[in-house]
Order: sequence, then C-alpha cells, then structure tokens
Amino acid sequence: MPLSYYSCSNCGHWQHYFAPPPDCPVCTDTRNDLPPDGWDFRPEADVASRLQGSWRTVGRDVVAFSTSPRFGLNGTGWLLLHPEGNLAFEAAPYYTPPMLAEIRRLGGIRYLSSSHVHGYGALWQLQNEFQPDVLAIQREDLRMTKAFRVTWPFDEAMSFPTGQSLYHVGGHYEGQSVLHDPARRMLFCGDAFKIDQDEHGENLAMSTHKAFHKDIPLTPAELRRYRDVIGALDFDTVCTPFEYGPGITPAMAVAVLEDGMRGPPGVRHIPMHELRQARSPDGGNIGGQNIKRWSAA
Ligand SMILES: [Zn+2]
Ligand SMILES: [Zn+2]
Repeated sequence: MPLSYYSCSNCGHWQHYFAPPPDCPVCTDTRNDLPPDGWDFRPEADVASRLQGSWRTVGRDVVAFSTSPRFGLNGTGWLLLHPEGNLAFEAAPYYTPPMLAEIRRLGGIRYLSSSHVHGYGALWQLQNEFQPDVLAIQREDLRMTKAFRVTWPFDEAMSFPTGQSLYHVGGHYEGQSVLHDPARRMLFCGDAFKIDQDEHGENLAMSTHKAFHKDIPLTPAELRRYRDVIGALDFDTVCTPFEYGPGITPAMAVAVLEDGMRGPPGVRHIPMHELRQARSPDGGNIGGQNIKRWSAA
C-alpha cells in the first residue's frame, strides 16, 4: 500500500504510514491515556469529511485556527503575521481548504514550529502546502516528527528574523520549547502551563504538570528550569496549544512554578485571584530582570 496520512482519533496525532499504523506513539506514552476501545486510525479523507474549520483574530496580528467538532487533543494553530514572513506555531487538528485559502490570503507561512508533539496537529499539511523556509523543532523531540521534515533542529534556543525566539524548557516533554514574541509581549508556552477557563474564555486558574491526564507533577529541577527561562521573559499574554490567556504576567507564571517547588510534589490549580497578587521575592517585576540570551543555534 502507498504511504498516506492517518490520524489517531483518540489524540489526533498524525502518522505517515503505508496502512493504518500498529499503534500511536503519543497514546502509548505515559503522558496520555490509551483509547478505551482500541485503536481507531482515520485516513485523511475521513478526517476532512468530519471537520469544519474556523479562525479568529485574537489581536496583535495573531490569528487562531481551529476545527470543530472536537477531534483528538483539539489544539489551536497560531499564525503570527509579519510583513517579512508569517510564523505559524502549533497547528490545528486539520486544515480544510477554506483555512488553507485564508492562510494563503494572509501571506502564507515562512517559519513553522511547535512546542512539542501535543501541539503538532496537522503541521505536515502546513509544510506540504506552504513550503516554509524553516521548520524548527528542539532536537530531543525529533523522534516524534516522522509525519513532516524538520529543517532546523535546535539546542537551547533559536531566533527568527521576525523577532520571535524559541527556548528549550523540557519538563512536560523532553524537547518542549516555548516561543516568545517580545514585540507582541506574548508567550506561546506549549503545555508548560494549563489555563482553566470558563465557557467565555475567562481565566479561572493555572497549573503546571508533567502529565495532564494523570496529574503527574514535575520535579523541582524541571520547575526550576521553567522558572529560569520563563521568568526572564517579558509578556502579558500566554497561549497554550488549547487556550488564549490574556493578562497572564511573568510574576503569575513564576508563582505557579514556585508553588510547585514548595513542599511535596503535587499539581495545584491556583486561582487567578491568588496569582494576581504574586510578586517576585524582592517585590519587583520578575519579568524585567536580567534576560539571559542565547544566540541562534
Ligand atoms: Zn494517539
Ligand atoms: Zn503536551
């Protein structure tokens, strides 16, 4: 049988395979649940026939692409517009022809990246369709990228000509990385944080985990690494692959991490009103301190 694309209906992970694949590397991993009734791999045409695409501008020239009804982990694809080349970070579960036409109308994609495998969605489609100059993934997660081709594996950090930088934070996934856009003051944090929101998208609480489904906490060293990288960045908005979180500052993010570093390991969903009172230990603004910079790898 010829190679074609199959998506795991439990998590949405795409594989390029010559038959329905034997299993899904995302679902068999500790950080995900197995499908309760066995594997169900859908060929591309089947996924295409089920999903409707939509997009919305969330402000600051950022467009969020998503599909419905829910499919797999059901992530969002973020498109950051720039006159010298758009950057796409994370991807929707699938891109319907109108979604692809909209991206084309907005100028296509020059730079493509994702935090870790739970954000990949149909990244392969964006690469096939728009042939970006760069597809950047941290080297520790290369093993998860078989459905597309990484052109720029990186170590600790890399920067795009359009001003955004990727920083390796590990933790949740070995190669997990965050994308920081200093001009927009936005942090695309992958699954370093989970933001609980109500049905109107209001932020209710924030947490951090090694594994979300099983509530496995991170270790103190993993939390420290998150804090050292994320606490040195300046932002007022945090986007996960699943949530758009305006109003989240570095001090609030650091407060979640430091809560995890105190006492026995545990996962706590800290209410936003507690986090809004968060201050750095010296009472100053954590986000403004000594930003450690790496050069492009
Ligand atoms: Zn899966
Ligand atoms: Zn994840």
